[in-house]
Amino acid sequence: MLIDSHAHLEMPEFRQDLTEVIQRAKASGIDYIFTVGTEKKDWTRALEIAHSYPSVYAVLGVHPHNAREINDEAYSTLKRLCRDEKVKAYGEIGLDFYRNLSPRAVQLKRFREQIVLAKELKLPIVIHDREAHQETLGILKSEKAEDCGGIIHCFSGDDHMAKECIEMGFYISVPGTVTFKNTGGFQEIIKGLPLESLLIETDAPFLAPVPFRGKRNEPSYVRYTAQKVAEIKKVSLEKVAEVTTENALRVYRLKFG
Ligand SMILES: [Zn+2]
Ligand SMILES: [Zn+2]
Repeated sequence: MLIDSHAHLEMPEFRQDLTEVIQRAKASGIDYIFTVGTEKKDWTRALEIAHSYPSVYAVLGVHPHNAREINDEAYSTLKRLCRDEKVKAYGEIGLDFYRNLSPRAVQLKRFREQIVLAKELKLPIVIHDREAHQETLGILKSEKAEDCGGIIHCFSGDDHMAKECIEMGFYISVPGTVTFKNTGGFQEIIKGLPLESLLIETDAPFLAPVPFRGKRNEPSYVRYTAQKVAEIKKVSLEKVAEVTTENALRVYRLKFG
């Protein structure tokens, strides 16, 4: 059993063949998929999918790219939607200083506000951090994010950051990029982290692992990422599957079976 801890099934890339995509995941041993609605137009679609497929759960929030679109109405809509029993976390929230699609000052403000909101909703948070490691860590600390815990999705920080996040009760989620030829030291970082703190994800439709690099990613491919983590850590695929599944069920507060 494997879990894809982070995908975007509500994105247009899956409009044509969503049922087949979910069936393929099931056939590949992926029991649960967490689909992340990152902006207003995607929230209800993510929930609709979660309610149509028993193996799919939803995560809702506003991505740093969309931080500038947030207003009071967006927050009240989120508050309402997040009380749905199929919503298991708040996110993805954080900072993206690579693309800077929202001004940095707005990203910082909305990141803080959304941590406060997630705590109010009693949900763990899913963090997006791209080229903003220092600032992300700073906000997680100053906002006492250890109170809600959660996941650093698509982790790209260094060893020191990983350890600080784990200490605050966060899980480090490994994307398909770990299978690439040149990972810039990422495989070494993963090697040094306890399996008990790792999750695996696709971030589908993005970041397909080898041998599908460059193609549309989908949850069934999370198996290739798990296989690579097993190789790096010199344990069996079964062990990686077992432990990362337990981790995902724990952070998303799901019960087995
Ligand atoms: Zn992200
Ligand atoms: Zn994502």
